[in-house]
Amino acid sequence: MRTFPLSSSPRIRDVVRHEMRRRRLTVVRRQELPGSMVRITFGGEDLEGFASLGPEDHVKLLLPADGGLVARDYTPSEHRTLGASSGPELDIDFVIHATDGPASVWASTAEEGAQLELGGPRGSRLAPTGFRNALLIADPAGLPALRRWVRAFAGEPPTRAILFGGADAAFLDDAEAAAALVQVLEPEHDLLTVVEQQDVDADTFVWAAGEATALVPVRRHLKALGLPKEARSLHGYWKRGEAGLDHHAPLDPADPD
Ligand SMILES: Cc1cc2nc3c(=O)[nH]c(=O)nc-3n(C[C@H](O)[C@H](O)[C@H](O)COP(=O)(O)OP(=O)(O)OC[C@H]3O[C@@H](n4cnc5c(N)ncnc54)[C@H](O)[C@@H]3O)c2cc1C
Repeated sequence: MRTFPLSSSPRIRDVVRHEMRRRRLTVVRRQELPGSMVRITFGGEDLEGFASLGPEDHVKLLLPADGGLVARDYTPSEHRTLGASSGPELDIDFVIHATDGPASVWASTAEEGAQLELGGPRGSRLAPTGFRNALLIADPAGLPALRRWVRAFAGEPPTRAILFGGADAAFLDDAEAAAALVQVLEPEHDLLTVVEQQDVDADTFVWAAGEATALVPVRRHLKALGLPKEARSLHGYWKRGEAGLDHHAPLDPADPD
C-alpha cells in the first residue's frame, strides 16, 4: 500500500450560515426519474429567502408517521428563484425504496397540492479549493448531492465519479456527465476494490455518501493511505435495517475520529 505525507496547503472550506426557519411548501409537480427515484418540485411563498450554496447541504423534512411527525434528511437537489410555476421552486429527489419508511412512502404518492414542512439548511459548506483532483462516490441516496458536487467543481479540479448500489448514471445530464469521468458499478463489483484501483494521493479530495456500512471499508482504506481529514468527506446517508439514521453518528463506530 502506498502512503504519502500530509499535504502542506490549507484547504479550509468556507461555511455560510443561514437563517433557521421552518417552511411550509406545496408540491407543484412530480417527475419519475431513472432508478426508482422521483423528483418532487415544491413551491410556495415560504420559499422566499431560501438559500442552499453547498453541494452537500441538507434540509430536514417533517413527515407524518405513527400519528406524529418524524424528520428525515434530504439534499436540496436544485433551487430556482424563478421556476416554471412563476415563483421560487425547490427540487428534492427521493429514492423510492421497498420499505415503509415515511419519506419514501410520502414521496411515492405525493401529488400536486400536497404540503410538507421542512427546516434548513442551517448552513452551507462550500466546495474546497486547492486539490489537484476529486473522487466522488455515491449510491442512489447520494446522487443528488453528487450531482451538486459535479456542478460545483465543473471539471476544476478534474473529477471522477463512482456510482454504486444501483445509482443510475442517467440521473446526470450530458453536461454534468461530461464534467466527470463516471464509472457505474455492477452489483457484482466490490466498492472497496474499485476504490483501491483509483489514483488517490495527498492532492485528491474524496467525497462519498450512501449506505453507511458500505462506506466503512472505503474510509479505513483512505485513512490507511494517510489521506488527511480535510481531504475526506464520507457520510452514511442511510443504514440497512435502521430507520432514521443519525448521520452525525460516526460512520465507523470502531474508529469515531
Ligand atoms: C445529509 C443527507 C442527505 C440526504 N439526501 C438524500 C436525497 O437527496 N435523496 C434520498 O433519497 N435520500 C437522501 N438521504 C437519505 C435519506 O435521508 C434516508 O434514506 C432516509 O432513511 C429515508 O427515510 P425513510 O423514511 O424513507 O426510511 P427510514 O424510516 O429512515 O428507514 C426505513 C427502512 O428503509 C431503509 N432505507 C432507508 N433509506 C433507504 C434507501 N435509500 N435505500 C434502501 N433502503 C433504505 C432503512 O434501512 C430502514 O430499514 C440523505 C441523507 C442525509 C444524511
